Amino acid sequence: MALPKYKTSRANTHSRRANWKASAAQTVTCPNCGAPALPHMACPSCGSFRGRIYREAIHSTHAK
Ligand SMILES: [Zn+2]
Repeated sequence: MALPKYKTSRANTHSRRANWKASAAQTVTCPNCGAPALPHMACPSCGSFRGRIYREAIHSTHAK
């Protein structure tokens, strides 16, 4: 197995890790209620997915 010849400097490590950023989750618009929802998941606002209501909606303080 290949081995690195030199120790990676702290500056190189930090500059590489400085580009690691969290990205916002991608959402789709619910066709039933229009709220943003995760794709391939039941809507957290109304609980519908592919034209069916799968469960009671999770009512959070964030929902409008
Ligand atoms: Zn919905």
